[in-house]
Amino acid sequence: MARLVNIFVSARYRRMLNIGVWGLVFAVILAVVLSYATITTLNMMRLETRESAQHFIHLRKNIVGTFEALHQRVTARPCSPEFNDQLREIAYLPDGLNEFLYAPGGQAQCSVNIPRFERIHDLGEPDINWQGSTGFVTWFDRDLGFVGLPGLVGTVILQEPFATIVAPQKADMTAPDWMALEVAIVEQDGTSWHRMGAEGIYGRARQAADSAGLLPFSGGALHYLECDPGGVHCVAAEASLAAIFLSNPQMLAFALFMSVVLATSLAFQFNLFVTRYWSFEKRFRRNLKPDHVMCVYQPVMNLETGEMKGCEVLARWRDVDESIVAPDRFIPIVEKYGMTAEFTAMVARRAYSELSKNIPPDRPIQVNFNIFPRDLDSQALLKIYAPFLNEPERFEVVLEIVESDQIPADAQLQIEELRRAGIKTYIDDFGTGYSNMQTLAALSVEGVKLDRSFAMAPDNSMMAQMLTHAVDMIHATGRVMVVEGVETAERLKLLRDMAARTDFVQGYFISRPLGAAELAAFLARSNTGAGAEAERSAA
Ligand code: C2E
Ligand code: CA
Ligand code: CA
Repeated sequence: MARLVNIFVSARYRRMLNIGVWGLVFAVILAVVLSYATITTLNMMRLETRESAQHFIHLRKNIVGTFEALHQRVTARPCSPEFNDQLREIAYLPDGLNEFLYAPGGQAQCSVNIPRFERIHDLGEPDINWQGSTGFVTWFDRDLGFVGLPGLVGTVILQEPFATIVAPQKADMTAPDWMALEVAIVEQDGTSWHRMGAEGIYGRARQAADSAGLLPFSGGALHYLECDPGGVHCVAAEASLAAIFLSNPQMLAFALFMSVVLATSLAFQFNLFVTRYWSFEKRFRRNLKPDHVMCVYQPVMNLETGEMKGCEVLARWRDVDESIVAPDRFIPIVEKYGMTAEFTAMVARRAYSELSKNIPPDRPIQVNFNIFPRDLDSQALLKIYAPFLNEPERFEVVLEIVESDQIPADAQLQIEELRRAGIKTYIDDFGTGYSNMQTLAALSVEGVKLDRSFAMAPDNSMMAQMLTHAVDMIHATGRVMVVEGVETAERLKLLRDMAARTDFVQGYFISRPLGAAELAAFLARSNTGAGAEAERSAA
């Protein structure tokens, strides 16, 4: 899960995700466009094949009707003059079939044109013999010399004992350039006879129809098959995709262009949504919960004795990808959305549960918390820190008022009430925020914490020089003084050697912020002040 979430949170994965989303949207849009083109193409193919098939359906109906007429109305003695008259009457019907034979068993004896053949004409081996079912026997494309039409060809169809001659058909086989048609006659066993158009299309269309999934695609072409109700005449159409696109390159270019534009805009929207949804601020607000709020503890040392007085509780927030986020990033959000009191309570609860478990009961410690000026309300704070206050022999609570906004007007009143309940207050980050000598003089806080920028300033810098003055100034107020941000042995020595007394120090040189168990171990080791001092000099 954390890894999955990481994809949304980390910038590196976000880029890949963007590309992925773009590709996906592009593919989907292109697929929609192609499906639409395919469906339109198939529709056109259906229209074209139907038009051609119509002709053959009609022809077949004529043939069946004509045979019905022959059987009913040609009743005279075969090949007699009356017989020929009856034949001619039917030939006169306007159905395009004008030549009939009397040809029992494929032995033609007379026709409309030739009332009696000199010699019986044997039609030979038929191409299709459907004697069993429809009763039709067919000879394709025979020379019609035997009926007095030498040089012409026609198809002879026999239904005992009559036969009719079908002239080569001129069906409308016109289609757009990208489409090819074939007319085939199909035997019951599936054998097909190419009749018109481009040979081979029927076979491929049949294959595509048999094996088709969603669309009758095969070999990069679309197929369509339309047969007459008897399944005898089939018109097959084939349209190669390449041909379709080459026939209309503007359309293809337009479809591609639109897909790119749409994909880009949708991917952008998606990215915006993801960024908003997964922006740090949103993530933090969604997950400002006890199991995401963590604490680390930075030891506070008595400068004179080297004894570890206690610790400052520093909040951390566990991001959805399990990374640990420092307060600079989330404290402004806590303030912006007025979640300060709720946040302070979460930190206090967490700190109590960890410290009470890890620090031995016989090791009293001072625990410094950071609070927002706007939450300087003694009633609420006493409730939040009640678990610590209930064990006064173990814990001493100090509240550091971080200088993010103005200290409220009734601050003094609240500070006094807190003091009566056993809670000390410090002004935090002195020298940077709103606090100045005036606030300090007006507020009877127990202590002042000099901002870390003084102690951390590079040697000989303006800030470094101001460290001495600031210490002198705070010392003059008579408040407990804490200097934080002590990173080097030199700075520690400087503070020790100064005339103005610094009470407590805090900084990476003494210890970085630690987990609760680490803090317990650190305190145990430094129980003997000398041990800790030795450890530090060794480091
Ligand atoms: P702060 O109260 O001034 O806390 C001291 C900060 O200085 C901590 O940063 C600490 O890790 C860092 N620090 C301590 N010693 C050294 C050092 O020798 N060198 C350097 N470079 N840094 C040192 P952190 O933990 O990032 O906290 C930053 C700020 O976030 C805190 O400043 C405090 O204003 C605020 N904060 C942290 N936890 C809480 C909390 O629970 N509630 C409130 N309201 N604010 C908090
Ligand atoms: Ca602080
Ligand atoms: Ca500070």
